[in-house]
Amino acid sequence: MSKLQAMRGTRDILPDEVVYWQTIEATAREILTRAAYREIRTPIFEQTELFERGIGEATDVVGKEMYTFVDRGDRSTTLRPEGTAGVVRAYIEQNLFATGGVQRLWYAGPMFRYERPQAGRQRQFHQIGLELLGTDDPRADVEAIAIATDLLKTLGLKNLHLALNSVGRGEDRERYRQALVEYLMPYKGDLDEDSRDRLTRNPMRILDSKDKRTQEIAQNAPSILDYLGDESKRHFDRVCDLLSQLGIAYELNPCLVRGLDYYTHTAFEIQSDDLGAQATVCGGGRYDGLVEQLGGKPTSAIGWAVGLERLILLLQKLDRKLTSSIDFYLISRGDRAESQALLLSQQLRQAGLTVELDLSGSAFGKQFKRADRSGAVACLVLGDAEAENGTVNLKWLKTGEQETWQQSELLAQVETLKPKIESASVKS
Ligand code: ATP
Ligand code: MG
Repeated sequence: MSKLQAMRGTRDILPDEVVYWQTIEATAREILTRAAYREIRTPIFEQTELFERGIGEATDVVGKEMYTFVDRGDRSTTLRPEGTAGVVRAYIEQNLFATGGVQRLWYAGPMFRYERPQAGRQRQFHQIGLELLGTDDPRADVEAIAIATDLLKTLGLKNLHLALNSVGRGEDRERYRQALVEYLMPYKGDLDEDSRDRLTRNPMRILDSKDKRTQEIAQNAPSILDYLGDESKRHFDRVCDLLSQLGIAYELNPCLVRGLDYYTHTAFEIQSDDLGAQATVCGGGRYDGLVEQLGGKPTSAIGWAVGLERLILLLQKLDRKLTSSIDFYLISRGDRAESQALLLSQQLRQAGLTVELDLSGSAFGKQFKRADRSGAVACLVLGDAEAENGTVNLKWLKTGEQETWQQSELLAQVETLKPKIESASVKS
């Protein structure tokens, strides 16, 4: 029989690593909630057509990377490759626009793309994303970007760069496309195969190519920023100005494009120097045409998504080691002591402490060893004598200092003990 394994491009996230995930999730939830964003949870699979219309058939994601299958009812079904399309579908289907004003939404969860797995690139990966719908105000673009930078900074990440561009509006891009094709035509033979293909279908995507030679050619291509109409230019100048006012540094990158018609104005990425080839931690931009493209009323919107696997790689490189900690490791031996210990562990947990109960029934010496290895701040010991007297022995594991408590008194004093536990747990 062959050995069962997790599928290529997927992985188990084990408890030691989950601490990092929980830290990111808690930090994101706090920062987004403080900015009045509300969480939305949409299904993990949707009608294939949603992504074809919402991401675009000419993109790699839809063209090559989707997990698409026919379900038992003959419906073409796709595991979501990203979060925005589902959120926008829900926005339209659930009349979220009906309350008027803007909708500030965020989501978190797994996404699926059939890609070649490598560091920071998987087939099941995870994103946290934000969508701000219902306004074309440049302040919205800057709010979205500021929240993303705030999140990454709060997590302690350094060496990050914000790359910024504007792809303008449809008519700006029309003029730009002509100029771009004119520039690229003489290099046709030097472009990579995909890019040659795109020359007629979607030339702006060539700027985004990962091929070295194509990138060199793209470096000298005309810049979209020189083709923006007055309105687009005003929007972009305001975004840049506001970013500066907020002290958020950025670099213009005219090669940062999204080639589809419903992407408008601001496009941005946050990249890290410490990630190698998969440098982008956060990608986002304005999509003023998408809601209409999916059957809703014209609605301006902006959003971003951060990739959690890449964030975790960065966090693990920082010195800050994250581990979960236990307050009390509770050991006991003998029938009466063991049942009292079970009860005491529940009562201490209800009072707010983290308690691990040793269930081995082995000799105290062995249980003490496990207590030492558990990383707990203190060990509670319950033997026959303690059970008889209703007491419990408390041993601070770092100093070896011991105290005897009435069990009832220990429970009554939990609040006064908490600061002592806290200070004894500071890892040295
Ligand atoms: P890339 O250029 O790396 O393929 P992308 O343009 O496809 O990125 P987006 O669709 O903008 O990425 O998704 C936003 C973020 O999600 C990325 O910046 C990245 O951090 C993360 N991400 C995208 N695809 C994957 C993947 N296959 N595995 C892990 N993370 C991913
Ligand atoms: Mg990709």
